[in-house]
Amino acid sequence: MNDSVKNTNPSTLHQDTSEDALKFSIAHHLKYSQAKSPRTATLMDHYNSIAFAVRDRLVEKWIETQNRYFTKDPKRIYYLSMEYLVGRALSNYLVNLDFKKEICRAIEKLGLDLERIEQNDIEAGLGNGGLGRLAACFMDSMATLGLPAMGYGMRYEYGIFYQKIIDGYQVETADNWLRKGYPWELPRPDYLYPIRFYGYVQHTSDQEGRGICHWLDSHDDVMAMAYDIPIPGFHNQTVNNLRLWSARSTREFDFGSFNEGDYVQAVTHKHESETLSKVLYPNDSNMQGKELRLKQEFFFVSASLQDILRRYKRNHSTFEQFTQKIAIQLNDTHPALAIPELMRLLVDREHRPWQEAWEIALKTFAYTNHTVLPEALEKWPVGLLQHVLPRHLEIIYQINQDFLSRVQVQHPGNPGLLKRISIVEEQPVKSIRMANLAIVGSHTVNGVAALHSDILKKQVFPDFNKLFPNRFTNVTNGITQRLWLKSCNPELANLLNETIGEDWVTDLSHMKKLVKHIDDASFRERWRQVKQSNKQRLAQYIRVDRALRLEVDPDTLFDVQIKRIHEYKRQLLCLLHTIVLYNRFKENPDCDHVPRTVMFAGKAAPGYEQAKLIIKLITSVADKLNQDVQTAGKLKLVFIPNYSVNKAEGIIPGADLSEQISTAGMEASGTGNMKLALNGALTIGTLDGANIEIKNEVGDDNIFIFGLTADQVDATKAKGYNPRDHYENNPELRKALDMIRDGYFSPDHPHLFQPIIDALLVQGDRFMVMADFAGYIEKQKEVEALFVQPEAWTRKSILNAAHMGLFSSDRAIRQYSEQIWDVHPLTE
Ligand SMILES: *Cc1c(COP(=O)(O)O)cnc(C)c1O
Repeated sequence: MNDSVKNTNPSTLHQDTSEDALKFSIAHHLKYSQAKSPRTATLMDHYNSIAFAVRDRLVEKWIETQNRYFTKDPKRIYYLSMEYLVGRALSNYLVNLDFKKEICRAIEKLGLDLERIEQNDIEAGLGNGGLGRLAACFMDSMATLGLPAMGYGMRYEYGIFYQKIIDGYQVETADNWLRKGYPWELPRPDYLYPIRFYGYVQHTSDQEGRGICHWLDSHDDVMAMAYDIPIPGFHNQTVNNLRLWSARSTREFDFGSFNEGDYVQAVTHKHESETLSKVLYPNDSNMQGKELRLKQEFFFVSASLQDILRRYKRNHSTFEQFTQKIAIQLNDTHPALAIPELMRLLVDREHRPWQEAWEIALKTFAYTNHTVLPEALEKWPVGLLQHVLPRHLEIIYQINQDFLSRVQVQHPGNPGLLKRISIVEEQPVKSIRMANLAIVGSHTVNGVAALHSDILKKQVFPDFNKLFPNRFTNVTNGITQRLWLKSCNPELANLLNETIGEDWVTDLSHMKKLVKHIDDASFRERWRQVKQSNKQRLAQYIRVDRALRLEVDPDTLFDVQIKRIHEYKRQLLCLLHTIVLYNRFKENPDCDHVPRTVMFAGKAAPGYEQAKLIIKLITSVADKLNQDVQTAGKLKLVFIPNYSVNKAEGIIPGADLSEQISTAGMEASGTGNMKLALNGALTIGTLDGANIEIKNEVGDDNIFIFGLTADQVDATKAKGYNPRDHYENNPELRKALDMIRDGYFSPDHPHLFQPIIDALLVQGDRFMVMADFAGYIEKQKEVEALFVQPEAWTRKSILNAAHMGLFSSDRAIRQYSEQIWDVHPLTE
């Protein structure tokens, strides 16, 4: 076969990106990597063969990039994140490769169906939501900008759970994403580090009387083994590395123990230690203080730091240049134990003096804060740390003591201040405040949107901001337009290419060239056609999907709220509006109502009962509403199960209206808001997170803003907020809530939703749903008034996409590189 291949020289074949060479490679891998013939090959065999053929072509640039970093030895950025929500592999790789056309043709020529193969693409869901997706967008931007970067993460065997909806309830099933193997990763059994737990600390001194520390009698040690995933930049020579850690038993490397004890028990123990990297904790904006999670966090940072130090020491014999060569970014506090761990490695292992080690640490770390919700701020009980990581607790105490003494000198006689800024919290349970540790141990702390960074400085960490006035800064989040436009919305990407050229793919500010075309009626018509075609595709999915099988009309307003289910994100507000519409449609059937399809998608943390009940309420309202013949064709409600990157890619291009309606002050940034606006959806939203910056970019006339501001939320609560007033004074609100309370949507369980009513009316409505209801309902009327004017709507849709330049993760990464990391592109 493949007589036409001229290049069969193995040393250059793997770089050959011609259609013929790719065909040859795919066929070769089917036979020699999969040991299959075309007759016996499954879809997965073909998928793997294609993956290997693509991977071969990345390997050359991958090795070359890593060699370049080794020889030129530039300052590198190490991005530490417990989560990477990368999405589908093959389709991801295809966007960035400059031989996408050739590979697609090769696949076709081999008689394979790329669409079917892409349906079997493997989605690595190694994250919960926005934070993990941000890390994935950042990896793409760093490679595209040619930055000497490396990502470190966890290779969870089970990523974010798979969400099924059964009888309207969320049911979690395990996401065994590795079951068929993952051809994109390379196991590196040679990069292996011991990770220790438990035991105790002994202090002695050397001949010169300097203190030395011994961490003794640790047990349940495990090994961290690396798996590498190549991260190619867009059409360039850079392939960076994403290194994920997997836990391995030490027993495999410790044959001695097999001889003395019970062999079977030793092998059984091996499986226990491997549970460390078994599963991602499925909590978003909520901290779960489990010992296993603490061990995961330490496992992750210890492996990453040992690896970073090993690499540094290959080029350097002293630590003098450490901070000129290494920047480490902490994605939230999950990896904040890296600070005491680096101290331990430098002081206990490398025998550097404490003060020198501290100066190194402080110049190395920077910390990104992702939330101001108190329930999400990490705290670890001192007792647990003492048990699991005794030496690290000592180091944290020392860091705290040094810090507090310095403050005491500057601000004598202020015990209140010391108590507030201390890394150690005394009440109610003596605990370590990980955010305080991260702030004290980092040279820069950033929030992820202007408002959020402001709240950090003024309300959450005002004392720290006064002590370290230059430490706090803002880097507004961003998204990669390669995935969130070029790949997920090919029709819109083509229209852009024809209208403004292709520069937007690597420089999103070029989108503003669209403004010039706004008065071109034929361009607007094409813009509308693209949206319509994407809506049809989404409607088709909803029609044929086995879990949905619902008829929705692509001419209706597609109103979407897609994100984790959380009370602060206020899915309830959007749902209450849907019930209000339902009641209006039924009470005045002859009125000219604007037909709508409301769509939700999102997972609730398995232990978050209220969020799970909200899902049940959405699906219960949907059941009632979608069966009503009176409103058929005018109003539909859909809960799309198992929200993921892939689902987002399918929904976003077909959205008209983007719901970004969190309680002001509670959403740090949001990135879903950016993805939707970039794809031409109009936003209805509060002045929260990056919505504020989106409004500033697109202009007040092109976005639907409602509700209390963050300051007004605080003031309303301070005044004594009574949510019942809103219930009593607003008949539409009262009716909607009464229906929920009285079992209209749950006739078999009339009290099922009482906890939701109670949260709003009895427990104080922490998320201000009642207070923002009327403003939201009014704003939705404006949305409808505009939607019935397609030309005016289209203009605003175009203006939204045109002004998204700021929200590229390329811009965010440039800002991090220049303002925080001092790391520069190294492309040759
Ligand atoms: C972008 C994204 C998120 C974050 O959405 P927000 O609306 O910013 O909360 C969560 N999950 C997935 C799969 C995403 O792609």
